Amino acid sequence: MDFDWTEDDVAYRNDIKAFLAEQLPPGWNGYDKSNLEKYKTDSIAFAKAMAARGWLTQNWPKEYGGQEASPWRAAILSEELWPIGEPRGPQYMNVNWIGPAIMAAGTEEQKLYHLRRISAGDVCWCQGFSEPDAGSDLPAMRTHAVRDGDDYVVNGSKIWTSHVGTADFCFLLVKTDPTAAKRAGISILLTPMDTPGLEVRHIDGFVGEQAFHQLVFTDMRVPAAYRLGEENRGWDIVRRALSFERVGAAHYETGQLILNRTIVEARRNGMFEDPEIQTRIGEVYAALEAARMLTYKVVDLRAHGSPPTADSNLSRVAQTSALRLAGELAHVVFGEEGLEAGSGGDVRRVLAFSVASGTTEMQLDQIASNFLALPTKV
Ligand SMILES: Cc1cc2nc3c(=O)[nH]c(=O)nc-3n(C[C@H](O)[C@H](O)[C@H](O)COP(=O)(O)OP(=O)(O)OC[C@H]3O[C@@H](n4cnc5c(N)ncnc54)[C@H](O)[C@@H]3O)c2cc1C
Repeated sequence: MDFDWTEDDVAYRNDIKAFLAEQLPPGWNGYDKSNLEKYKTDSIAFAKAMAARGWLTQNWPKEYGGQEASPWRAAILSEELWPIGEPRGPQYMNVNWIGPAIMAAGTEEQKLYHLRRISAGDVCWCQGFSEPDAGSDLPAMRTHAVRDGDDYVVNGSKIWTSHVGTADFCFLLVKTDPTAAKRAGISILLTPMDTPGLEVRHIDGFVGEQAFHQLVFTDMRVPAAYRLGEENRGWDIVRRALSFERVGAAHYETGQLILNRTIVEARRNGMFEDPEIQTRIGEVYAALEAARMLTYKVVDLRAHGSPPTADSNLSRVAQTSALRLAGELAHVVFGEEGLEAGSGGDVRRVLAFSVASGTTEMQLDQIASNFLALPTKV
């Protein structure tokens, strides 16, 4: 087994580092969304510069403006961008799973309209999945859309929605057949954020200002032409999309950055002399490396064109668990000062990752059923 990067990979990583040195706005802090206008302008400028280089959608098929680059390229990019706060902003979702979902299920008109915008790097999306009573049990969602002529009329609510403050569109899940079995009867509406009847409510953030919002829909009319895929068949599209979402972010690199900062701080404040701290540093490092290897396995499967497997769940659990260990150690070493998003410890944000995109418990449930064939309620 050869774990070395190829010469091309090394050159590509160096190109990204040089690009970052040139393109990152001065004082960039991707976790500070208190000035949303600046955050959006900066992230769009960055994504457009990537698009100009041909990097933004390099993994996409050529017919949609991509270069059919190896999934390893996306992995390298993610390793360089995530630890510094993902300067593409919400556009990492566009590239990783929203665009591919539109490619897979969209009409020619939808592809033409949305994919061109995504690959140009100047459109932001949010994902409207979770509801007040449907998070882990997503198919239990209640937001419903009733067909009325050429439109759907949508009522309900979504919660914990990230990136709302910058979003132009919402990838919105709705029930179109409330009588159908749980996973049936769900459809996707590609909804412009300025649609009348869509109200945005602020939620005070645990992970930082402007991190979360609630969306409330009151008789919101969305043209049926904005539905992605067949009516009531949205779950299959979402399931595939989520498997990409789960390994799209290199959390092990973020964990490594936090560990490095923690070691520097421990040396500074004298805690490094404590053998227990040294043991924990070793544990965090081992967990991060294991997470890296499990993620590389998923990237390798994808590079060979294999469909998503439960390896994505394993990688996700390994990544968020390792990141959590890094965050807990950072909390001990930095104390309160390490809590804030973007601080040395970054503890709040780190802990939130074991909830986002499906909680660790839900990932474990899926591993139990898909790998071990154990009975599960999920
Ligand atoms: C940083 C962050 C960003 C997010 N961004 C978005 C976004 O952009 N769009 C969006 O739609 N949502 C988003 N979310 C919401 C996220 O997807 C949900 O919080 C998550 O799915 C959990 O749902 P919940 O909060 O309703 O918790 P619940 O589902 O109520 O779960 C509560 C607890 O019970 C456990 N649990 C529930 N069911 C089971 C089971 N069957 N077996 C074992 N344990 C179980 C869970 O693991 C959890 O610990 C985000 C969350 C975070 C933290």
